[in-house]
Amino acid sequence: MILPVLAYGHPTLRKVAKEIDPSFPELKTLIENMHETMYQSDGVGLAAPQVNQSIRLITIDASAFAETHPETADFKKVFINPAIYREEGEEWSFNEGCLSFPGFRQDILRKPVIHIRWVDEDFHPHDEQFDGIIARVLQHEYDHLEGILFVDRMNPLKRMLSKGRLTDISKGKVDIFYKMIFPMQKKGRK
Ligand code: ZN
Repeated sequence: MILPVLAYGHPTLRKVAKEIDPSFPELKTLIENMHETMYQSDGVGLAAPQVNQSIRLITIDASAFAETHPETADFKKVFINPAIYREEGEEWSFNEGCLSFPGFRQDILRKPVIHIRWVDEDFHPHDEQFDGIIARVLQHEYDHLEGILFVDRMNPLKRMLSKGRLTDISKGKVDIFYKMIFPMQKKGRK
């Protein structure tokens, strides 16, 4: 089932998401739905808060980058209760987008190497280091679990200049091909 994606301005996107345990109801279904939603919207990653579930769950399929970044070819993973416990290296810029911000992209600085702990969909523990584009996608999605959005990491002047566009996104004044919920949309408006 395809889930509607929350647009910028929705309060769930600002909450710190909660850890879950294996008793979380219908977790497999939620993960399936998140994958389906991600593929349908051409996303490479999706965090549960973006589909209005304030829990620490991320789905990633970075294979869209495989042509330029071969290491992403088979990178399809589920991260539950992740913790990025170390970031290293000199910050580098990458042009990020976000399903909660249709049509809006920004160059964002982040460190290139991360160390992350998580459990997979079977609640098996993992502890790995990632770099490059995979680290980047994980950092972006992980921020969602902390209630942080990529616009928070924009250059302050650029962010100020983007205020109008960001308000338009909250109001649903965007061209979009996937299902979304716009927090500031007026009733009766499409
Ligand atoms: Zn995002």
